[in-house]
Amino acid sequence: MKKWGFLVIVVLFLGYAAARYLPETGNLADKNDKIQKGSIRDSDSLNVVTQDQVYQGDLLLVNKQYPVHEDSVKTDIVTLSDQKDLVQGYGLLDTSIRLSESVAHKFNKMIKAAEKDGVNHFLISSGYRDFEEQERLYEEKGSDYALPAQYSEHNLGLSLDIGSSQSEMSKAPEGKWLEKNSWKYGFILRYPKDKTEITGIKYEPWHFRYVGLPHSAIIHEKGIVLEQYLDLLKENSEISTVVDGKTYTVSYYPVSGYTSIKIPKEGQYKMSGDNMDGVIVTTFR
Ligand SMILES: [Zn+2]
Repeated sequence: MKKWGFLVIVVLFLGYAAARYLPETGNLADKNDKIQKGSIRDSDSLNVVTQDQVYQGDLLLVNKQYPVHEDSVKTDIVTLSDQKDLVQGYGLLDTSIRLSESVAHKFNKMIKAAEKDGVNHFLISSGYRDFEEQERLYEEKGSDYALPAQYSEHNLGLSLDIGSSQSEMSKAPEGKWLEKNSWKYGFILRYPKDKTEITGIKYEPWHFRYVGLPHSAIIHEKGIVLEQYLDLLKENSEISTVVDGKTYTVSYYPVSGYTSIKIPKEGQYKMSGDNMDGVIVTTFR
């Protein structure tokens, strides 16, 4: 009798366990049909990514092959001369220069750090350009000097041309300081001298692009450009790095239509499209 009672309990328990856990496992498997990399952990949550997210964020690649979509333009564009608290420690070539407000804040932080090192003659000569402005520039200056509308990073609001009021950027202390330190503040020298074959753009010691941390740190450390960095992310299931005591993990996911991707529940995350075919998820804690 005792044995029979024990068996009933075992059978009931197994039934309960099956009912409790099997559907969840099945469900997870369905949801993860499109997940191509990484393993599912209990601590991961699933997010649905849509096609439009491929065209939004700070990691968008813009070049001859991948133009700027209209909805890729940063939504916090401001005219810098109207924002007195944003323009400190540097000059503006003219009062109409615009930029993403959040990028301007990062730029300010960077300029303050340069000032501490005695480098303080920065001058912004160009920031955000809308498509019309870009087209005008292209028509006036020609293809040697400007890109057509939608093919310039300036159309995103994430790029700026920085000069020195002392001398040309390739020789000025401002240019040298930025080349060495801008990665700490999320910026990259977008068109380096030794990468013209990859970027398709001549050396521009004045053109800096905001991509954010830890991306700027990895790009700087590896001595690569944005094109190569995005390729690297596609080749690796994930890249981890520590910057300023923060641990970051960066993963690329291809997106087609509605795609489920896993995002760890612990810590925070940020997502950006690549303007090509996927999104990059950056988790940090
Ligand atoms: Zn530029």
